[in-house]
Amino acid sequence: MREETIFDYIIVGQGVAGSVLALTLASSGLKVLIINEEKPNTSSKIAAGLLNPVTGFRKKKAWLADIIFPVLHQFYLKQEQVLNEQFYHPKDIFIPFDSIQSQNDWISKSGDNEWSSFIETSELPDSYHNRIIQPFGGMSIKQSGWVDIPKLLQATKKYFTQKEAYLSQKIEYTQIQFGENIIVNGITAKMIIFCEGTNTMLNPFFDWIPFVPNKGEILDIKLENFPTQFILNKGVFLLPIHQDIFRCGSTYYNEFDSPDGVTAVGKKELLTKLKGLILENNIEIIGHKANVRPAVLGRRPVLGFHPQYPQLGIFNGLGSKGVSLAPYFAKVLAHNLLNATPLPIDVNCVRFWKE
Ligand SMILES: Cc1cc2nc3c(=O)[nH]c(=O)nc-3n(C[C@H](O)[C@H](O)[C@H](O)COP(=O)(O)OP(=O)(O)OC[C@H]3O[C@@H](n4cnc5c(N)ncnc54)[C@H](O)[C@@H]3O)c2cc1C
Repeated sequence: MREETIFDYIIVGQGVAGSVLALTLASSGLKVLIINEEKPNTSSKIAAGLLNPVTGFRKKKAWLADIIFPVLHQFYLKQEQVLNEQFYHPKDIFIPFDSIQSQNDWISKSGDNEWSSFIETSELPDSYHNRIIQPFGGMSIKQSGWVDIPKLLQATKKYFTQKEAYLSQKIEYTQIQFGENIIVNGITAKMIIFCEGTNTMLNPFFDWIPFVPNKGEILDIKLENFPTQFILNKGVFLLPIHQDIFRCGSTYYNEFDSPDGVTAVGKKELLTKLKGLILENNIEIIGHKANVRPAVLGRRPVLGFHPQYPQLGIFNGLGSKGVSLAPYFAKVLAHNLLNATPLPIDVNCVRFWKE
């Protein structure tokens, strides 16, 4: 990297948030440098990458689904071309009904304009016969699928490394020098945007953001000859990763001792729920991981600029839906930076500022 280079933005952190924001800004011709402390286990590295527009226990349409799903579809398809890697896997999710009542509710919803682009009543192919529990039938969720996040992260790192715009380092907050430009770790830029996940709780510039970190555990399992046409979801999801290999998750805990320690309780919870979904005696566990989702009070993303240090920005608060929220909100932040389009207050970080 040449000494005199002045970057438009330093992006601190290369999880889903930092990767998607860096790619979005770079695609507008801006000069972006990523500085990322590489850790083997992060929220982004262990996440399933599921894209599901119908979420929650009560099966509601996800927040802003009509707007964010078309954007994410375009984004991941385009980035597969830019990065020359395949990581975006559109695939319907099949949800078995849990009662006659839910069957009736969903059949009537599927004819409703508000829902028709996301759901349809569906029958599983014969390959699922005697493999899953579905006495009342089920429906499939369209516009869903998954992003292979480790592949997205690796390809993004390679892309910025080739442009001499990636550093594997940690940012020390005390080393940030303010002036007309900002200097940190010997690099000069107009602005820094922190995409640090839950590590932002240790960032003295943004420690006023009220994080409500939520721990999740997830399993990789082997199921021989189990069909792969659908992602299944009932209490837990079962996501086909490769032939015979599936990811099953996730747990949600607001209280925990270790952020990335796996537990027997977590494993038991996932396996018990899985046994309510599939008819399978031979479940071989081949992986078990845990990490913490960067959720904040109110469960909305956090973007924008520090009220007292406007050269410092943030892109965070993606909670349990990083892969679906990041493309749209990175675009919102990019529009703000390029065209001064105001940031919506319900996602603007200043909503939490008290001084
Ligand atoms: C079990 C589990 C399952 C999940 N499943 C899904 C799912 O199916 N779908 C979905 O959309 N979401 C899912 N999520 C949520 C998803 O993981 C998060 O929304 C997303 O990964 C958050 O990304 P991030 O970039 O904000 O944070 P992170 O992934 O934590 O990335 C932050 C990065 O910043 C780096 N960093 C931090 N501080 C510094 C510093 N000072 N200097 C340099 N580098 C720094 C870190 O090392 C890290 O690389 C899941 C989460 C868990 C725990």
